[in-house]
Amino acid sequence: MKNMKTICRNLLAVTLIVVSIIANAQEKKLPNIVILATGGTIAGAGASSTGSAYTSGQVKIEAMIDAVPNIRTLANLKGEQIANVGSQDMSVKVWLDLANRINELLKSKDCDGVVITHGTDTQEETAFFLNLVIKSDKPVVLTGSMRPSTALSADGPLNMYNAVALAASPKAKGYGVMVVMNDEIHSAHAVKKMMSTPVQTFQSPDEGMIGTVIFGDVQLFHKPHSLNTTASEFSVDGVKELPRVDIVYGCADMSPDLIDIMVKAGAKGIVIAGVGDGNMNAGTLEAAKKATKAGIIVVRATRVPIGAVLINGEVNDKEYGTICSDELNPQKARVLLMLALLKKRSWDDMQNLFINY
Ligand code: ASP
Repeated sequence: MKNMKTICRNLLAVTLIVVSIIANAQEKKLPNIVILATGGTIAGAGASSTGSAYTSGQVKIEAMIDAVPNIRTLANLKGEQIANVGSQDMSVKVWLDLANRINELLKSKDCDGVVITHGTDTQEETAFFLNLVIKSDKPVVLTGSMRPSTALSADGPLNMYNAVALAASPKAKGYGVMVVMNDEIHSAHAVKKMMSTPVQTFQSPDEGMIGTVIFGDVQLFHKPHSLNTTASEFSVDGVKELPRVDIVYGCADMSPDLIDIMVKAGAKGIVIAGVGDGNMNAGTLEAAKKATKAGIIVVRATRVPIGAVLINGEVNDKEYGTICSDELNPQKARVLLMLALLKKRSWDDMQNLFINY
């Protein structure tokens, strides 16, 4: 009888060991994904599930992960809180912190991909910045939401689920930094926030989306054509701040002295969100010429949401010393210019950056 009891106990112990070995092996088979949280509406909370008032950046990353059903079946997940702000308060400091942390994580064989949760207002800028300075071809995916976590039909949980599925997918290597929202995958180069509040806000109107993720099922259609990540010449190794670049919004009868004011305030570069094909009135063009003669880089972008700005359209760029943003909207042109200004470059080199990135 005593022997029987011992045999049973031993059998139970062996079974438990075998079960835990199998469980461990299964856990090890899943990719390791780190979620870096920065705040935004996806971490936002409001008093009413049907009201529009809420505050961004209220929920911490562990609670956000726990709120997504089955997300831990996709990957072994770790969360880190890098910031917790509405992305209207995103800063160069957080960009540098993010870039350094992602580069460190992706160097390790223990990290297969990174997801960043981020407000949607400036998400395209953060995505584009990281696209230029991350030195890895492992997936880096940004996501967010348009409805706060407390809202009826909050879109954050499914966006996060799909972002983790994409970051965990072996198919997603070498696509540069991506944005996932509303079942769509967009490249950092092409994505634009097109609508102020609807959930289908992120679109790539010039080039189209690069894929879809439906309930975690990843389909990728085409790679982005612009240089990114491992092919990018930019690095923020040891960089503590970036040169000041300001944006002037173009309109009828715009005030030319805005350019002088920015130069006086210390801007090393100015992006004009010009009218049409990156145009500005005659007074502003003269102010731009004065600035470029003084060594300030002036980039002509457009306030129009779709289409590129062309070299020597209505403005003779060589004569005025201006650079064309090509496909980059003003806010992304500003990001590229801040990085480009870390090094002295000829007009041709500077212009080529806007064509290649
Ligand atoms: N203002 C919010 C943010 O960018 C909006 C959002 O996340 O959708 O953080």
